[in-house]
Amino acid sequence: MHRRVVLSLSIVVLLSIGAPAAEIHLVYPRLEQGQDTFRYAPDLDSSFVLGQVTGARTGSKLLCNGHSVEMAEDGAFLAFLPLGNDRETNNWYFSLIEGETGTSQLEFPYGRLPSANATEWVPLEPPVWYAISESNAHTRTTIGGSYHLFPEVGTPLQVVAISDKWAEFEIEPGNRGVIEKRFLATNTEAKLDQKGQIRVGDGIVNANECEAVITFGVDRMPLWEVDVESLWSFVVTLHDAVSTVDRIRFTADAAKLIRDVTWKQRGNALEIRVDCHLARFQGYRIHASDSVIQFAMIRPRTMKSGLRGKRIAVDPGHGGAADGAIGPRGTKEKDVVLKWAHVLERSLRSAGAEVVLTRNSDSAVSLHERIDIARNADCDLFLSLHANALPDGENPAERHGCGVYYYNSLSRSLAETVQAHVVESAHLNNDGVFDANLAVIRPTDFPAVLIESAYMMHPEEELMLQDDKFLDKLSRGVKMGLQEYFNNVSSR
Ligand SMILES: [Zn+2]
Repeated sequence: MHRRVVLSLSIVVLLSIGAPAAEIHLVYPRLEQGQDTFRYAPDLDSSFVLGQVTGARTGSKLLCNGHSVEMAEDGAFLAFLPLGNDRETNNWYFSLIEGETGTSQLEFPYGRLPSANATEWVPLEPPVWYAISESNAHTRTTIGGSYHLFPEVGTPLQVVAISDKWAEFEIEPGNRGVIEKRFLATNTEAKLDQKGQIRVGDGIVNANECEAVITFGVDRMPLWEVDVESLWSFVVTLHDAVSTVDRIRFTADAAKLIRDVTWKQRGNALEIRVDCHLARFQGYRIHASDSVIQFAMIRPRTMKSGLRGKRIAVDPGHGGAADGAIGPRGTKEKDVVLKWAHVLERSLRSAGAEVVLTRNSDSAVSLHERIDIARNADCDLFLSLHANALPDGENPAERHGCGVYYYNSLSRSLAETVQAHVVESAHLNNDGVFDANLAVIRPTDFPAVLIESAYMMHPEEELMLQDDKFLDKLSRGVKMGLQEYFNNVSSR
């Protein structure tokens, strides 16, 4: 013990005698654990580098691959530069020019990812029925395409071709999608005996103080999707289904909430349309089984205005091993958003709201756990807190400030209201409102938005995110946005 103390003292002395040598710290790109070469996508022509130079003399200049890189007063830098074309041996080569000479250098080699091979499909003739075996499964329009449908466990899919990782399935004749094989039970025992279109029978509409539930009989589990047309009308499409509906029964309580339920056969799909009397639903939930499909329209716990008595889920993004975005000075998104969550928690509590945090420390919480926490606590809405970064290849010079993301159209007005108040309160550039398919905002049973407060990668925005006063302003903006949102809901 004693020897170690002496040793560390002597190091301090040495450092304080000599002038500090300048050092270039590259924050991004960086190698992840287990990665030996950083690789960019094969088709990118430019990308960004960010980090900080410490200990440099005033008037020093930073060059990267011969391009001049602007530094903030404390040496933080971000630059968007052309990438080399070599598949294996490109370099980011940094040099710091102090006076006449280059005094400090840093070299970061990088390569390219291999070009994707064309997928080799093996057709299955006749097609084979497999069931969804994993929860949170999703299908895509095509390989690398958008997320499309979110089938429940047990939903049968008619697979027409298979590759090493993918299965192509028929949604209905003339309409196909793809799904990763990991979501399917593709062993032979899992083959299902499923034939013919789904027959959809009579409906019943019930209601209680929590929800209005529309139930239709079916003879196998359908693939479905929902279109929220407005706050008053929803359309549920059942694929590969045919109507045998004769009547839909409304119980007395349901008739007060639901104005009409109508259906239309569109080719091989059946559309069921729900029109409400008032825009008094916060979301919906769909559950399908072998015998019924249920469409539950969820009513708010309270229609009171303001924040008093409201229960808000506040979700600080990332945590544990997931740092999130890292700023040029090394600031981690997971730390900033946790601090922000605590400031926001105090602010919302002072306005009479209850707050449920999805994490209260630097811990790893999965995306689905975050939703479950909010759902189990019966929260009125969900706010996910983040600080932004761009993917490789996008030019950061064009993007600044606050963006708010929603998925379900019922959350759009919440996104717009929060965005407007945060931008005003924290004097931020408006980076836009985004309709985005992200796991934490995908739930449809309560309004959910994700707030990208500011860009961690920009040196000046990183400084703001480190500042407690800025977190205060952000929180005040969110609070005012929620107040206005709940006032609007109560007056619908
Ligand atoms: Zn994030």
